[in-house]
Amino acid sequence: MTKEIDSLKKSLRGEVLQNESMSKHTSFRIGGPAEIFVKPIDVRDLKTAIKWAKRNKLQIFVIGNGTNLIVSDEGVEGIVIKIGEAFSDVEFDNKEAFVQAGTTIQSLLEQAMKLGLGGMEFAWGIPGAVGGSIAMNAGSNSHFISTKINRVNVMDFNGKIYKLNHDDLRFDYRYSILQDEQLILTDALFTFDRKDITFMEHEKEISIKSRWENQPINYPCAGSVFKNPPTTYAGKVLEEVGCKGMQTGGAKISEKHANFIVNLGNATANDVINLIREAQYRVYKQKDLILELEVKLVGQFENVSFLERKK
Ligand SMILES: Cc1cc2nc3c(=O)[nH]c(=O)nc-3n(C[C@H](O)[C@H](O)[C@H](O)COP(=O)(O)OP(=O)(O)OC[C@H]3O[C@@H](n4cnc5c(N)ncnc54)[C@H](O)[C@@H]3O)c2cc1C
Repeated sequence: MTKEIDSLKKSLRGEVLQNESMSKHTSFRIGGPAEIFVKPIDVRDLKTAIKWAKRNKLQIFVIGNGTNLIVSDEGVEGIVIKIGEAFSDVEFDNKEAFVQAGTTIQSLLEQAMKLGLGGMEFAWGIPGAVGGSIAMNAGSNSHFISTKINRVNVMDFNGKIYKLNHDDLRFDYRYSILQDEQLILTDALFTFDRKDITFMEHEKEISIKSRWENQPINYPCAGSVFKNPPTTYAGKVLEEVGCKGMQTGGAKISEKHANFIVNLGNATANDVINLIREAQYRVYKQKDLILELEVKLVGQFENVSFLERKK
């Protein structure tokens, strides 16, 4: 493999790292090593990395800001491709913005606000990048990023680029087809609304303040662990069954918000998984309700099973 990796290093202009700790690339600060970790600098580089991975029959996993991930302590086999800062161009044209996938949602909102463009105030404080946020159909308070997406460009695992329209992405609550297909989002066309800048600044302030008051964002975490069930909030039921404050090793269910697990400093992915299973089981036993995971598990999680709702 050394020869192949050397050839990748020669042909890629972005970084190529081996055994890179994923704890450096996740907001949870958890995760073992990625066998190969690359940061392409543009679409051409991305294609080079993908084709190389395909040629060498390696698994490919793409990440953005790593804010919705639990990465196994054993790490990730194959290649992890980070769509990062190099993909952060934003071009505005009237009310539309053509945005590269590595742009953070916060940077996009700031840039749009300066131009008097808004309509995505619900997303203040969401720490992901555009690609990951569209893949997850991120949002809050019943608002979703999907409502602002007109179309996207994606690259498949053969390096081919496609244009997908809004409906092709089959958005649903915390879902888009990007989670199931071998597609990497490279850019997206957003449509904003004209809004008053003072109004938007006010909304931003309220949103950020509310997050600081209600979420444990001073600790490493990955946002909401479970999706909200159709008729209630996951945080509410978890609190009702007494999950707040539960701790395993260095992982703890936040006292502030029961749907957040925080890393107290030395948490492992296993600590987090054990807490998730215990919390999920308690809710099932006491409420006859199965909470589904919102966070994504990455890497080897052998012998880990969760309760699953019947489809
Ligand atoms: C403190 C905190 C608060 C949060 N609050 C919210 C909230 O209010 N609402 C909400 O919805 N989420 C929230 N989250 C979760 C998270 O921020 C969102 O899901 C986020 O948008 C994910 O973006 P990311 O770039 O970090 O994706 P990652 O975590 O890197 O990846 C998430 C998924 O997207 C895929 N993916 C990433 N990039 C691409 C790409 N370019 N192409 C295709 N697939 C890709 C990955 O393979 C993975 O399956 C919060 C997280 C934290 C830590």
